[in-house]
Formats: sequence, structure tokens, C-alpha cells
Amino acid sequence: MHRLAARTQGFTDSVIRRMTRISNAFNAVNLSQGFPDFDPPAELTAALAKAAAEGPHQYSITWGAANFREALARKHKHFTGMEVDPEQEIVVTCGSTEAMMCAMMSVVDPGDKVAVFSPFYENYGADAILSGAEPVYIPLRPPTFEFDPEEVEKAFKQGAKALILCNPSNPCGKVFTREELNIIASLAEKYDAYVITDEVYEHIVYKPFEHIAFATLPGMKERTISCGSLSKTYSITGWRLGYIIASPEIIDTARKVHDFLTVGAAAPLQEAAVTALNFGDEYYKGLQEKYTSLRNLFLAGLDQAGIPHTTPQGAYYVLADISEFGYKSDLEFCEVLAEKCGVGAVPGSSFFRENVNHLIRFHFAKKESTLSAALERLMHIRETVPFKGR
Ligand code: GLN
Repeated sequence: MHRLAARTQGFTDSVIRRMTRISNAFNAVNLSQGFPDFDPPAELTAALAKAAAEGPHQYSITWGAANFREALARKHKHFTGMEVDPEQEIVVTCGSTEAMMCAMMSVVDPGDKVAVFSPFYENYGADAILSGAEPVYIPLRPPTFEFDPEEVEKAFKQGAKALILCNPSNPCGKVFTREELNIIASLAEKYDAYVITDEVYEHIVYKPFEHIAFATLPGMKERTISCGSLSKTYSITGWRLGYIIASPEIIDTARKVHDFLTVGAAAPLQEAAVTALNFGDEYYKGLQEKYTSLRNLFLAGLDQAGIPHTTPQGAYYVLADISEFGYKSDLEFCEVLAEKCGVGAVPGSSFFRENVNHLIRFHFAKKESTLSAALERLMHIRETVPFKGR
């Protein structure tokens, strides 16, 4: 038989999703794949029940139901100040995973280069391969994850047609400052590049840090393809509702890609989610407080267990340093951690371009009781996880 498509040979299955399967196999507390174990807001599940009873149950307009796009445009204006035309500047997608893929396929041709900050969310590598683009990496240097503007310029000089910006960042928790975003903006302008953003953690930001939507920077609306999602903001990762916001010219192309990829996001879920998009400010304040308290609980626990870690400014991930255990393979460490210690994590190497094997990623989008159970196990990590090379 012929070999299967060459484009699929360049990547493995998702390590994040694999770690969920491994955690489940060992009955570990799963802090690997980032999704909540608490319920979405009750008003939202009530709206879903209503949509189940009353519909719609058939396709929505391919680029998203009108009431969803209108509610999204209103919410987006409220938080970013940006005027978005729901008729011409939005495509509703099946999660931001499709939004990012659709953005890449709309912008790059096979052989084009795309700049990606490292560490990066693992999908971007696969997105680049599937769209035929060659990634050019820009290091974010631990522990503060700052970048060198010259490295960004170098990526553009090498011909990067677009830059992918995940802000707040998964996995390092960085929230880019206005100064940093301005540097990226002026270079994108200078080299006439697009910026594809992944802003799914826009509402999960810890004081005093603030998320600034990249498209709101002067001159950036035309060249930014903003990808977002309802998954994290409303704790509905399984609903697969995401979106792209961009100029009418870009959206016109993205709609076509989206139409032939998926036809559309689930109509009854879009209908129900309008309720969430209309939530008032107190919802977002509550979300921020909830995640701040979960972050503080989890970081305090790691401190108590003596595990060195990053302190996220946004999103819900922590990178923990496992150097002391002496493992050459962080994947092996995570497998042992799930089996022996009973906690699931993602090996850091799946996020870094550089040869990094001493970091693992935990997420803390979990009930306090779940985090406490994980921390209790992590307190005994040095008894349960064998050390190497001693
Ligand atoms: N964004 C989440 C993570 O990084 C989950 C991603 C996914 O599995 N779609 O873990």
C-alpha cells in the first residue's frame, strides 16, 4: 500500500492529550490537559437545556449564528474597546483549535515561514506542518520569559509571514506588557507581517497584570487575526466554541476555509452560549477571583512540597522544575509521576523548541479538593518517585 500523507509524518499525537489517557490509566489526579473539573455557570447549563428543548438543531449560518456574533461583538467591545462588525469581522469556529488552524490556512502558503515564541502551545507546531509552513522560533527566556527584540526581527528578516502570539501564554503564564506588544507591532508593521493571536486566557489574568488585546494597538487591527474561545472563560471546553476576529478581507477568506473544514460550530451550543456572552462584569470578576485563589492554593502547596516553580501572570499553568530527580527524559518522569505518585503532568519538552527536559507543566483549573488531593500526593514525591543517577 502507498505510504500515508507525508504531512502527517512530521508530528506525533498530542502529548497533552496522551498524558490525560496515561493519568486515567493510573487513576492519577490529572493536572495535565488543561480543563476544569467544576461545572459551568448554572445559567449556562439552563440555557443549554432550553436550547435542547426549543432548538435550533440544524446548521447555523456557516460563519456563526447572528445572535452569537452580535453578543460576541458587544462583549469584545466592552472589554477591549474595539468596534467589531458582527456581519463582516467574525467567524465562529469549533474551538480556538479550529480558529488557529483556519487562521494559518488562510494566511500561509506551503513553504512560508511562521514565527513562534518558544515555549509554545503544542498545537502550533502541528498547525504549521498541516498548513505547510516552516516555524521559526523566538526564545522566551526563563525565568521571566522575556524576549530579545532582535530575535523577533531576525525571524521577520528570515521571511516570517506571520507571528503567532499566545497571550496570556500557555504554558509559561506570561502576560505580555504594552511595551513588549508595541515592539512586536512595530516589527510586524516594518516587515509587513500578520500576527495570529491565541487569546483564550484573556479573562484569566492575575493582578497587577492586565491583558491587552493585540489588535487594539495602533495600526494592528488590519494585520491581526485574533483567535479566541469560550472554553476557558465559561468552563465549557467540551462545547468547542471558538472564533476568529479580523478585518473583512481576512474574514472573507477565513470563512471559506472554515466552511469547508467544518461547516460550522454546533448550533444549539451557540444558542445557549449567547447567555454567557451577555454575562455582566461580576461574572468576570468572580472568575478572576476564583482562579487567583486556586493559583495561590496550588503554588503554596508546591512551595510546601519544596518543588521549584514559575509564578504565572495569567492562564492556569505552572512549570515545575524536576532537575533534582535526575531524569534525562521528562516524558519518562511524567509517566513515573502518574504511576508512582498519582499526579498527571505534561512534559515541558512538548512546549519547548530548545532542548529542555527539566520542566513539567501542571494546570490548576480544578476544584480545591482536587488540587488538595494532588498536593497531598506531591508532598510525598521524593518517597514515591525514584531518583535517577544516584
Ligand atoms: N489548552 C489545554 C492545554 O494546553 C487543552 C488543550 C486541548 O487538549 N485542546 O492543556
